[in-house]
Amino acid sequence: MDQAGKQGVARTVAVYLLALVLIAAAAFAIHLMADAMAAGRAEASRVAAINAHERVLTQRIASLAQTLALAEPERRAPAETALRDAVEQLDNTHQALIDGMTRSAGGLNASPAVRAVFLEPPHNLDGQLRRFIGAAQRFLTLPPDRRAGSAELAALLDDAVQPLPAALDAAARQWERDDAAAAGTLRATLTVLLAALLAVLAAEALFVVRPLFRRLAAARAALQAAASIDPLTGCLNRRGLLDAAGREFDRVRRYGGGAAVAVIDIDRFKAINDTHGHAAGDEAIRALTATVADTIRSTDSFGRFGGGEFFLILPETPLGDAQRVLDKLRLRVAETPVMTGGVPVSMTVSIGLATVSGYDADVFGTIARAEQALHQAKSEGRNRVVGVMSAGAAPAAG
Ligand code: GH3
Ligand code: MG
Repeated sequence: MDQAGKQGVARTVAVYLLALVLIAAAAFAIHLMADAMAAGRAEASRVAAINAHERVLTQRIASLAQTLALAEPERRAPAETALRDAVEQLDNTHQALIDGMTRSAGGLNASPAVRAVFLEPPHNLDGQLRRFIGAAQRFLTLPPDRRAGSAELAALLDDAVQPLPAALDAAARQWERDDAAAAGTLRATLTVLLAALLAVLAAEALFVVRPLFRRLAAARAALQAAASIDPLTGCLNRRGLLDAAGREFDRVRRYGGGAAVAVIDIDRFKAINDTHGHAAGDEAIRALTATVADTIRSTDSFGRFGGGEFFLILPETPLGDAQRVLDKLRLRVAETPVMTGGVPVSMTVSIGLATVSGYDADVFGTIARAEQALHQAKSEGRNRVVGVMSAGAAPAAG
């Protein structure tokens, strides 16, 4: 891969990782938001329960105080115990609520408006409740015969009827309003985060996944092309040639016409290697490739079948024409020594030629006849072209 390609891949990977980090961050933020919403709901219902409990306790305390004030001496004890319990419960519950509201960490999330209901006029719920609890405690210390008609009892009854329920209602409504506002904000934030997540996913599909697939397709095409190329000469290899021959065979069978197939083999190539070295042999292969490429038409397919053997497909070429072209090629090779390391090395080729026949089941039949013709050329003394017409036709020496 070249430098630009490597940079492109590095950029794609970086964008991909960035997208992953963004998606993970958005997912984490959504999780935190959902968690906060659930915690908000739990807190709202806890506060509502405390509020209701305080309301019940204030009513119970007022009612028990009245009962106690009017009770016969022998029936006072249970009422007094129940009143003491109720006062203590209200005191504890209220103290816990105020502690929760004033604690900086982990406490109740009371807004300034809620605090105002608790701490400021007109409701001053905290002050009212403390007063109410104080009156109840004082009431319990009064001699039993002075309880009825006492100022403490009057205060308890008055407060339980009017200002306390109103203040408790105001507090409950304010908690509800705050909770609804917080839930609305969280919901809107969640929607924005979800939209951001979807946008990142869409951007990733567009700018990461799509280019990645394009790159993959290009790499696959390059690999496929490379799989059909002979590395020594840069022309087609056996696989590429068989593909091209198959296509030509199909074309002839479908549309008629004809094609010639030639197998070209360097004569006594082993001797060239043995005498001048393997590098010289390679040079001979490349020189022959260049000579053939210089001789054939652009519509012809040419490549190396393996070793010193080459293969040529000449579409729409009658046997006679092919024979003339290949004989010219044979002569050029024989007359042009290959220069390797400043040393001229002479070389000849033998060529077997066959035409595509409608009788052949596939292209291998044609190739087999061209190989047969090549063997004949070798056995007849090399440096020659032997062509066969089609299945069953007699070979014609050139
Ligand atoms: P013939 O005239 O009968 O064709 O004899 P030959 O020696 O050319 O025999 P053949 O065609 O079977 O070629 C085999 C030799 O080709 C063996 C090896 O030395 C040579 N050869 C095969 N592949 C390569 C290659 O990639 N580079 C080189 N330099 N030589 C090769
Ligand atoms: Mg040979």
